[in-house]
Amino acid sequence: MTTVQHLINGELVTNVGRTAPVFNPSIGEAVRQVALADEATIQAAIAAAKAAFPAWRNTPPAKRAQVMFRFKQLLEANRDKIAAMISEEHGKTIEDAVGELQRGIENVEYACGAPELLKGEYNRNVGPNIDSWSDHQPLGVVAGITPFNFPAMVPLWMYPLAIVCGNCFILKPSERDPSSTLFIAQLLHEAGLPKGVINVVHGDKAAVDALIEAPEVKALSFVGSTPIAEYIYSEGTKRGKRVQALGGAKNHAVVLPDADLDNTVNALMGAAYGSCGERCMAISVVVAVGDQVADKLVEKLVPKITALKIGAGTSCGLDMGPLVTGAARDKVKGYIDSGVAQGAELVVDGRQLSVAGHEQGFFVGGTLFDKVTPEMTIYREEIFGPVLCIVRVGSLEAAMQLINDHEYGNGTCLFTRDGEAARLFCDEIEVGMVGVNVPLPVPVAYHSFGGWKRSLFGDLHAYGPDGVRFYTKRKTITQRWPQRANHEASQFAFPSL
Ligand code: NAD
Repeated sequence: MTTVQHLINGELVTNVGRTAPVFNPSIGEAVRQVALADEATIQAAIAAAKAAFPAWRNTPPAKRAQVMFRFKQLLEANRDKIAAMISEEHGKTIEDAVGELQRGIENVEYACGAPELLKGEYNRNVGPNIDSWSDHQPLGVVAGITPFNFPAMVPLWMYPLAIVCGNCFILKPSERDPSSTLFIAQLLHEAGLPKGVINVVHGDKAAVDALIEAPEVKALSFVGSTPIAEYIYSEGTKRGKRVQALGGAKNHAVVLPDADLDNTVNALMGAAYGSCGERCMAISVVVAVGDQVADKLVEKLVPKITALKIGAGTSCGLDMGPLVTGAARDKVKGYIDSGVAQGAELVVDGRQLSVAGHEQGFFVGGTLFDKVTPEMTIYREEIFGPVLCIVRVGSLEAAMQLINDHEYGNGTCLFTRDGEAARLFCDEIEVGMVGVNVPLPVPVAYHSFGGWKRSLFGDLHAYGPDGVRFYTKRKTITQRWPQRANHEASQFAFPSL
């Protein structure tokens, strides 16, 4: 069985130590294993990044950007290969994998603007003969820890920008689907990135803890579940690091009686069941305003859910693949059991799905619950599977209250034709990313991505303008060139104009 290796100082290395199996979830079998980094491996990655930093920080931003231009071309040239790698280990469909890669490439395109992004701010004559400017300088060695559900896109939210800002990066991808992430990082060397500027270490908690504890690591970007996000934020900031930690979600879609229900149902199908519900922006709750809306939604959703084309993600033309692991499948089935036990109406049950020829795959079919209430576990917790819950309320205000009371605040969407309602929703909803008739309002690369409440710990969102601020520190220089002829007197009062 082959082993997915670490990438340190431009070389592939395997430490002889612990490993974890990597599954193809469509067949339910381990297809390779991944090396799990120990302390010495993490220290080797840190040493490589630290050694590469002085030269890289002094490389002109335009030169750094040229690496990104070549990287983008290589990503596009390898699109099909990367999509197949993602699909094999994650289980998502090929089309979905291509979509994730494309959104990742858009972050590389943004990073190509490094010289513009890193422009400072300058004022002449802030005082007599005094000029002042602010500069954005790199932090040094920074690290990223990423989840399984976007093995290409989420790492690309982080390191292209961190690197063009002049930092050296250590990436700790998910150990569940590491191959595409490693392959993509290797392309950076083909694009001309100097050794040590990007390093990839695979691993679990031990590797993450070593990164948190290392004083050389100045900043941590994390994307994953809320308990780990909170842990990394508190442990990282305690050690004086800059941390942005993006966590889990429970995204509600509110449907008003005036919404175009056919378009709404089509949008909900993709947002709830695409990628088997394993997206932090997936819609997992529909808040139907009025029983009539709820009844019509159920009527229109059921035939579409039962007709979902489900199979091995690596085949084309499917709607949904399997869940990522056997444990993920069992957890999702457990949530469905709990919904039934707590009295929700199970309208479509995906627990018994079996895919012909893939009987051992980690599949769960599309599932729909109606008459879900806020106390139920399936409402409160993130299921991260193909399970959509309908909650019935009497008004837009009640729907908004429900959302604002939820502990997560990642994404949400309102389906309506009413501009006044949409404006109120956008103004008052306590969620970081809001859609109006857009079910997955994932910000484009030149905005920034982040939720509110327990969906994000830290101040700055991921990628875009916030990403530039996160990966740089501001230095403000005030400079005077006194005229030789005029000797200025000592000034004991606090300087002002
Ligand atoms: P996860 O939290 O289990 O793992 C994320 C990363 O943390 C992985 O690299 C993993 O190896 C590491 N990790 C796991 N346990 C750890 C521990 N005890 N200590 C230190 N590190 C640990 O998340 P996942 O299952 O890979 O991904 C799914 C989760 O990620 C969902 O909750 C989803 O909502 C969330 N997510 C959020 C966003 C967002 O932008 N907010 C985006 C994608 C995914």
